[in-house]
Amino acid sequence: MILVGHQLAAATVAVLVAVWLLRSRWTHTHPRAALILWQISMLTLVVSAIGALLGFGLAPYRRGLLPALLDLPPVFHELDIWHAAAVLAGLALAGWLVVNQLLCLRSTARARARHRLLLQLVARHDTDALVVDHPVAVAYCLPGRTPRIVVSQGARRLLTDAELDAVLAHERAHASERHHLVVAPFQALRRLLPSSGLLTRVCATIELLVEMCADDKAVRQHGRETLASALERFHANGTGGTPAGALAVADTPVQARIRRLRDPDRFAFPLAWPVACLLVLTALSTSAALFAVPL
Ligand SMILES: [Zn+2]
Repeated sequence: MILVGHQLAAATVAVLVAVWLLRSRWTHTHPRAALILWQISMLTLVVSAIGALLGFGLAPYRRGLLPALLDLPPVFHELDIWHAAAVLAGLALAGWLVVNQLLCLRSTARARARHRLLLQLVARHDTDALVVDHPVAVAYCLPGRTPRIVVSQGARRLLTDAELDAVLAHERAHASERHHLVVAPFQALRRLLPSSGLLTRVCATIELLVEMCADDKAVRQHGRETLASALERFHANGTGGTPAGALAVADTPVQARIRRLRDPDRFAFPLAWPVACLLVLTALSTSAALFAVPL
């Protein structure tokens, strides 16, 4: 039961850090630091939830979780109903998460491949991006091994040259920093539990932070006002939606991003961040170690 207690303590740390992140305002000033903490926290929560179930189920064997699992099949019938149910629940949860993640990755990869084929037919190469001859203003990054930056003629007409450069820099930041890999696990969790308001909120928070990271990179090259006015034009003009699997310049709450660019809060980097990082990393390493080490 000590093992279960450790896993529950790790899950509690992860939840507390996630709640702190959801309530904090500094995250919009330091989106990259917030994203790092979000990723570690969610991984800790998943690992410790599975570890708690398996820890309870395999407690009679007094071994690390993985060695006990490997030797389980011949002696599974010796477990009482509660321990057996906990083992099955832990394995089902792990399998459910992995299969769902793989299915999401596959469906997104297929959607991107279809869209890439479509772009080969309708888009033409320009110096910086693929240009689609369409009046609706859109700009997005189609991520992948060979990412594509796509912009419509409508967007080129809508924006000044400087604004267009800022938008393209934003999209290139998505591609170079592989933001789709940051967002994917959270989107997969949301697809697993689409009715969960909390997961929807967490996912929206992650998507917004990713946009802010791309905004920050574009701002370093082109200035705050240039990107803000480009976003404002997109917002006033409306956008034509984003293809599945793409990251668009104006998908997330644009007004919050414009406000942040023009009137940044400038919160100091929180001293609690390294403490929270250390806590949640300790929780994660403890949770993971208990899979191999007997307690
Ligand atoms: Zn974006």
